[in-house]
Amino acid sequence: MTQTRSSQSGAEFLYSHSGAEDIFTPEDFTDEHKMIAKTAQQFITKEVEAHRETIENQDFDQVVTLLKKAGDLGLLGHSIPEKYGGLGLDKISKGLVGEVVGRTSGYGVAQSNHTCIATLPITHFGTHEQKEKYLPKLASGEYLGAYCLTEPNAGSDALASQTTAVLNSEGTHYILNGTKLYITNAVFSDTFIVYAKIDGKHFSAFIVEKDFPGLSLGPEEKKMGIKGSSTRSVILEDCQVPIDHLLGEVGKGHVIALNVLNLGRFNLGSACTGGAKHALNLALQHTNERKQFGQTIASFTATQEKVAVMMARIYASESLQYRTASLLEEAMKDLYDEEDHRIVGKQMMEYAVECAICKVFGSETLDQVVDESLQLHGGAGFIQEYPIEQMYRDSRINRIFEGTNEVNRLLIPGNLLKKAIKGDVPLEELVEKAKRELSSKENHSLSENDAIRSMRNVFLVCTGLAFEKHGKELMNHQETVMKLANIAIVLYAAESSVLRAIKGGRQEGDVKTLLARTFLEESLLQVEAAARKLIMSVLPAHEKREVMDLIIRELSSYDFGNSLERNRQIAKHSYNKLKYEV
Ligand SMILES: Cc1cc2nc3c(=O)[nH]c(=O)nc-3n(C[C@H](O)[C@H](O)[C@H](O)COP(=O)(O)OP(=O)(O)OC[C@H]3O[C@@H](n4cnc5c(N)ncnc54)[C@H](O)[C@@H]3O)c2cc1C
Repeated sequence: MTQTRSSQSGAEFLYSHSGAEDIFTPEDFTDEHKMIAKTAQQFITKEVEAHRETIENQDFDQVVTLLKKAGDLGLLGHSIPEKYGGLGLDKISKGLVGEVVGRTSGYGVAQSNHTCIATLPITHFGTHEQKEKYLPKLASGEYLGAYCLTEPNAGSDALASQTTAVLNSEGTHYILNGTKLYITNAVFSDTFIVYAKIDGKHFSAFIVEKDFPGLSLGPEEKKMGIKGSSTRSVILEDCQVPIDHLLGEVGKGHVIALNVLNLGRFNLGSACTGGAKHALNLALQHTNERKQFGQTIASFTATQEKVAVMMARIYASESLQYRTASLLEEAMKDLYDEEDHRIVGKQMMEYAVECAICKVFGSETLDQVVDESLQLHGGAGFIQEYPIEQMYRDSRINRIFEGTNEVNRLLIPGNLLKKAIKGDVPLEELVEKAKRELSSKENHSLSENDAIRSMRNVFLVCTGLAFEKHGKELMNHQETVMKLANIAIVLYAAESSVLRAIKGGRQEGDVKTLLARTFLEESLLQVEAAARKLIMSVLPAHEKREVMDLIIRELSSYDFGNSLERNRQIAKHSYNKLKYEV
């Protein structure tokens, strides 16, 4: 089981520093963690990859057969308590399985969707009877599940749902009417978690079974990628749902829908990290074999720099994923038996900011790595015979579902501002302290940790300036909010990378230190760019220069040595391993 540490509260990384010993890293994996990862790895390599083409051709019977095999191996029950037929493992294990399965895109989406957003609503909000009835079957794969929130007129604005539920005159059934759009796993699901408004007002959740009268499916959507996962609309026409299939309380569907999505975002980050590792491995293998101008593509230093940048970004993604996994575990480890849904919701929401970052950073890492890996394949990358072609198409959806990356970005500063307005975070004091530290040149050792402190101070100063300018209306100035979100994301990723390298004992030349430095260098540039753009728009002309100079001076004072040499060393390490391994 996960070792517990003195963890930060949700979003606390935005205003206070963590010690290296406070964060969980992949180096802390237990034998139990390694065992579940190995089981998942063997299953994916032996079973799923052997059927890549069949899955891509939308043979959903094959997908179902594989899901049931995954159930037999315990890979569907990691997040279901033992007493309901699961393994009751921790969030680190959930992350590991998600990462391994994620690299298979289409199949991975089907499995992750089932184990996460389609099952967790019952695990955490079901009655004992509902859990007894459904969880053992969802754990074994006898039942497969779907999560139905999106509607034609309710996408990002999910609570604008128009699906209605009305109690029948006998008081035995809710009658549901409406259409749910783009529902993953629809064609083979036995259970559908459906959100609808009781009497058109009270947003609530229901467990709907596939055979309930009035439920039908639309045709299979023709998609750009993730073809191995079914996507259909779910149509509810006077669908009769017995009253004991209400999930949670009347009018509290948002507590289920939104909190489960937090876990979904963490899960998606894991899948994207696994996918990015796989795409990098394909690039390493291809460029190591392919020769042009009498030498391998790997031997060109431009290739080596690309490899180093991809490695550093994946290292950051992996570091922040497992740091978050451990935080989630801390917050949620006692929730399996918790019956008070307010407590369940509060604990699941605690790390909403970190989960949003997992999703945004993971999906953008995957897109960048897949794009660069395809480029390194040259023309072959465009040909279906090479798996990177499919990965390129499959990766794009990750920036869209589970809340678009824009919606997730808005959530990050939004969460901090809410806490500040409620008085839970002394934002003004923190901003003043950050200003003082930025203006002072004392104690400036120019270490990686100091660079993180500078980035955090820049975030706080920018937040303070934005808040001074717009006050409580800040969230309506989305261009500014997006820039704050970008700084926050890079800060969490860079801090997770640096602390992991420090925790590992950090020796010169150690690959984790090299990777942390390469990522940090890029992060400082990104923070500077976002901060400069933000300052341009929030400060009057006569005040801009001074603050801008302060920030540029601070962020450009760091020098982590010759990046060219460092990146060649990272590439050398990567080509020695011929895969992502740190
Ligand atoms: C393959 C696939 C599988 C899916 N699986 C499921 C599933 O299993 N269950 C389910 O319920 N849903 C599912 N979805 C739906 C998915 O979650 C939504 O598509 C997604 O949330 C975005 O909603 P939308 O498509 O309506 O886009 P819109 O909300 O119309 O957004 C369009 C654009 O506007 C931007 N935007 C929207 N609101 C704002 C705002 N306030 N500020 C700034 N920009 C904004 C968005 O970021 C986006 O760029 C799936 C979708 C796909 C394509």
